[in-house]
Amino acid sequence: MAKVVITRKIPGNGIKMLQDAGYEVVVSPHDRVLERQQLLNFIQGADGVLCMLTDKVDEEFINAAGPNLKIVANFAVGFDNLDLTALSSRSIVATNTPEVLTEAVAEHTFALIMAISRRIVEADKLARREEAAFGPEVLLGTELKGKTLGVLGLGRIGSRVAEMGKAMGMNVIYYDVKRNEEFETKIEAVFKATPEELLSTSDVVSVHVPLLDSTRHLINAERLKMMKKTAYLINTSRGPVVDEVALVDALKSGVIKGATLDVGETEPKWAGGLSDLPNVVLTPHIASATVEARSAMGELAAKNIMAVLSGQSPLTPVQSK
Ligand code: NAD
Repeated sequence: MAKVVITRKIPGNGIKMLQDAGYEVVVSPHDRVLERQQLLNFIQGADGVLCMLTDKVDEEFINAAGPNLKIVANFAVGFDNLDLTALSSRSIVATNTPEVLTEAVAEHTFALIMAISRRIVEADKLARREEAAFGPEVLLGTELKGKTLGVLGLGRIGSRVAEMGKAMGMNVIYYDVKRNEEFETKIEAVFKATPEELLSTSDVVSVHVPLLDSTRHLINAERLKMMKKTAYLINTSRGPVVDEVALVDALKSGVIKGATLDVGETEPKWAGGLSDLPNVVLTPHIASATVEARSAMGELAAKNIMAVLSGQSPLTPVQSK
């Protein structure tokens, strides 16, 4: 009987689907990231591993799993935790969970945009302390209608965020390494030829690129300075796309007005001083955390494992290009 190891408990039917298909399914008993040695011991002898984005899948991981390993199904759409060269050199299939989380992440992104522009977290703190009520100048925010939303990375999630911005009456501009003229026509989005052009003209910049060598610190001190002083930066992609230390400096010195981050460079920690700033909203990597998305992610990962272990093609192999 083939063995499937799941490195953290997941919601939905994914586990049951694998059990019903007759696999030996071993689920981590801990609701936390496994320590490295624990993880390496835990995956021994697996034919398939359903892993988290917090698990680094490299040579050491593959060697620890042993010669039966045929598939690594990442419980995420991003796959910067996977060493694709190491996996493909051993003919191990890598899969991810595209599409099923797009709506959840786009909605969370928009929740963050509204939270920072309407100062929801600051307001919540004051209201709980019973220190504020109506006042003509209390907690003035910024309206979105008529403002410019700059989407950096117009893929599945970025284009959904763009549609939401359009529905809110925003002007949408985007930068992507691939231009999408069909989408431009669909929502009257305007392509900018460089990230710099996008940064200097946006009121809200929302980042949706994958973490690659080319996108690491894409938002750095120099590029933050190109943004409007009144602009907000939103990052729900991957932490290292934004230079967090440079962001703290920019927020403290008024280079930009505010920022919201769902992802950090060294999760769960934030760069020094970030969490003390009032013009920041932080969430702990929960953009895809809806019952619907997380259940569908588990089920898609399970289907990928079942396909590969029964000799078929995976539904959603990682597309690295
Ligand atoms: P996608 O592949 O559909 O879109 C990514 C887009 O970025 C593509 O259009 C691509 O052409 C573009 N791109 C790549 N390199 C670029 C560059 N240097 N400059 C500009 N554009 C570039 O992926 P997606 O499904 O939209 O997901 C995007 C990312 O969001 C994932 O890679 C993941 O890291 C992140 N994500 C985060 C969460 C979360 O919980 N916070 C959840 C899901 C996804």
